[in-house]
Amino acid sequence: MHTPCLIIGSGPAGYTAAIYTTRAAIPSITIEGLQRGGQLTQTTTIENYPGFPDGIDGFQLMDNMRLQAEKLGADIRSGLVTAIDLSQRPFTATLDSGDTITADTVIIATGASARYLGLADEKTFAGRGVSACATCDGFFYRKKNVAVVGGGDTACEEAVYLSNLCKHVYMIVRKDHLRASAAMRERVEQRDNIEILYNTNTAGLFGTDDGLQGAHLVRHRGTPQEEAFDINIDGFFLAIGHQPNTDFLNNQIQLNPEGYIITQPDTTATNIPGVFAAGDVADPRYRQAIAAAGTGCRAALDAERFLAQNK
Ligand code: NDP
Repeated sequence: MHTPCLIIGSGPAGYTAAIYTTRAAIPSITIEGLQRGGQLTQTTTIENYPGFPDGIDGFQLMDNMRLQAEKLGADIRSGLVTAIDLSQRPFTATLDSGDTITADTVIIATGASARYLGLADEKTFAGRGVSACATCDGFFYRKKNVAVVGGGDTACEEAVYLSNLCKHVYMIVRKDHLRASAAMRERVEQRDNIEILYNTNTAGLFGTDDGLQGAHLVRHRGTPQEEAFDINIDGFFLAIGHQPNTDFLNNQIQLNPEGYIITQPDTTATNIPGVFAAGDVADPRYRQAIAAAGTGCRAALDAERFLAQNK
């Protein structure tokens, strides 16, 4: 099977690219990946995506984007791209079904996944207290006590953001210092309602069917000073990094040291002509749905131009 444009991923970037290619009369195939709709399907109400004055459920927003693309005629298929050969055009993608698709252009929109600690309790309280996005969910914890796990720039940024909304913000930091930049550390230190718990790990979470009530913590784990204690919190925010979904590319595309795809300045072009990247997979900085949708649009326009110039 051959397509002028293969779109890999079904978050805001992938679906927007599908909408734009289809409207430009460029036949494309979108392969949805493991999590149809991407990261937004894991959150509750989205209040910062323009156009929805009452907010919109994350799952609904993604379903709407898919329906909009399909209504325009987009070819969207379930499946996972397990490998891709970008060494020559047309490019060849292999799916988990064993099928292959050849494509003149490829838009990679496979997103990034928030890293979790791996505690069973994180799943138990997912969407009921556990979140990996303060900008998305912080609003629901106004005037409440919350904790942020991590000591990097993201954790500091999330803690500062939450400190504007919440009563008290704990930062749970496994080392005796913050890894974050001096500027970010300073911003955290200026907030009276942020309390940093150094040398501290999370052992578990507790609560009821109504939601999270607290976290079991351990200070100086594995040492003679080891000390277990609990904190009462309504929200538990993970900020221990994101993992861009680029493994299947097998190092064929230029990545930054964290594994994000590097795009050429002011375009979505990668270092391989005809291969474009959109959304979180190429965005270590903003990681917002609206930004991903924007780059999905840009990638579709870039692919359209490439196809016109390389007939
Ligand atoms: P980082 O990798 O920089 O930091 C991750 C943090 O999580 C570290 O403190 C790390 O601890 C901690 N951590 C990792 N795994 C665990 C675990 N299993 N248990 C407990 N803690 C854990 O990720 P960020 O998302 O903060 O930043 C990613 C990149 O984006 C960085 O380059 C950062 O500078 C950049 N960034 C820049 C911003 C800005 O300039 N405004 C804003 C946000 C991000 P430890 O230190 O012990 O390893």
